[in-house]
Amino acid sequence: MEDKGLICCKCNKKLEPKTTHFTYLGHSFSTEILKCPVCGEVFIDEELVKGRIALVETELEDK
Ligand SMILES: [Zn+2]
Repeated sequence: MEDKGLICCKCNKKLEPKTTHFTYLGHSFSTEILKCPVCGEVFIDEELVKGRIALVETELEDK
């Protein structure tokens, strides 16, 4: 993942990319999201998640 240098506004710590699993419409997929190593606050890149969901929806339509 591109390092955007985001900082947790609560802890003032640099966010670290962490692979997280999502389940959507019965499909599971994993993507990297930025997470604060101290408080565990996650910062989801909405565009990225929407992109992955759109991909899953396309796969479902193909069946
Ligand atoms: Zn934090």
